[in-house]
Amino acid sequence: MTSYNLFYLPGDGIGPEVMAEVKRIVSWMNTQGIAKFETDEGLAGGSAYDAHGKAISEEHMAKAQVADAVLFGAVGGPKWDKVPYDVRPEAGLLRLRKDLGLFANLRPAICYPALADASSLKRNVVEGLDILIVRELTGGVYFGEPKTITDLGNGQKRGIDTQVYDTFEIERIARVAFDLAKTRRNKVSSAEKRNVMKTGVLWNEVVTRVHKEEYPQVTLEHVLADNCAMQLVRWPKQYDVIVTDNLFGDVLSDVAAMLTGSLGMLPSASLGAPDAKTKRRKSLYEPVHGSAPDIAGTGAANPIAMIASFGMALRYTLGLGDWADRLDAAISAVLAKGLRTKDIASEAQPANATTTQMGEAILKELQAAA
Ligand code: NAD
Repeated sequence: MTSYNLFYLPGDGIGPEVMAEVKRIVSWMNTQGIAKFETDEGLAGGSAYDAHGKAISEEHMAKAQVADAVLFGAVGGPKWDKVPYDVRPEAGLLRLRKDLGLFANLRPAICYPALADASSLKRNVVEGLDILIVRELTGGVYFGEPKTITDLGNGQKRGIDTQVYDTFEIERIARVAFDLAKTRRNKVSSAEKRNVMKTGVLWNEVVTRVHKEEYPQVTLEHVLADNCAMQLVRWPKQYDVIVTDNLFGDVLSDVAAMLTGSLGMLPSASLGAPDAKTKRRKSLYEPVHGSAPDIAGTGAANPIAMIASFGMALRYTLGLGDWADRLDAAISAVLAKGLRTKDIASEAQPANATTTQMGEAILKELQAAA
């Protein structure tokens, strides 16, 4: 049996609480001989700052570099609001993304039937929704230079951010999107603003060429990013895979996220380039939510986003897609039976589960299906 090395970085706030529920599933899979996971754990974010004055230590960076998959909880909290900018909790996550070369961020928006009424949109618009947003993560306006605020000396200041994309950055994210579409409903929608941005013109040109030369069997459509935002709330089921840049991806994935109800339900994956020898991509899996200091320590955190992030690791890195399907089915079954943490509760289905109870119930479903 192939052995896989998982590196846990639970982080701060509810991070360790939701990670505990993944660890429970990993241990069970190990004892059943379903997989051989070797696990190690490190510090990231505020907890790392408290321990070594850095948002992640060199030792833990090195461990993340050799792991098959990094499982990341969440970082940050009011305790670290005043720490110096370069060692603030988020710096640990940004360093991981940069040093592991994680240029592709995958955010699925899946609406479980039992939660369709929790969405702010009508049930028929979201029920059965299953779309995937592929966001470019290491380029674009968040990183482009110059990035400055200049004093103009006349009582005015000028802020500058620079949107930059090179051909190779667009090619590689397009390939990730087309490859994923082939495993799904075979359709990619590429979102940019070619009508007003030069990077949009280049994006459109490169995606079109990669499609023509390498993926003619996949359906490709181009959509302006602002129209895409509108379409996402009008009729999101028209999409399968949406590929877009860092800035638009940030916004569009948050819109898509809210289609499905709560932040506590949303997993994500960040992938790097395939290794020349092993073909495996460096990867980090994390829930979309933050460290939720307002509920940390109360047992109210929903562990599903973290558990589903582990499900993405099973699918995209660990070659255990059938177990990813079983884990998704276990989550769906638990929700269908009416189990609810506070964030996904409603009048009809009040909160009746703590973080641990939700994690245990999902594991029980998984065991029953084994
Ligand atoms: P947040 O995602 O932590 O919380 C937003 C709201 O959603 C809160 O009311 C919270 O209680 C709720 N929530 C989030 N996750 C939940 C879960 N699993 N179950 C139930 N409810 C959940 O965002 P925030 O409050 O803006 O930020 C809190 C801290 O987290 C800040 O320090 C921020 O910088 C950090 N943050 C970190 C990440 C990350 O680690 N990737 C992402 C976003 C925010």
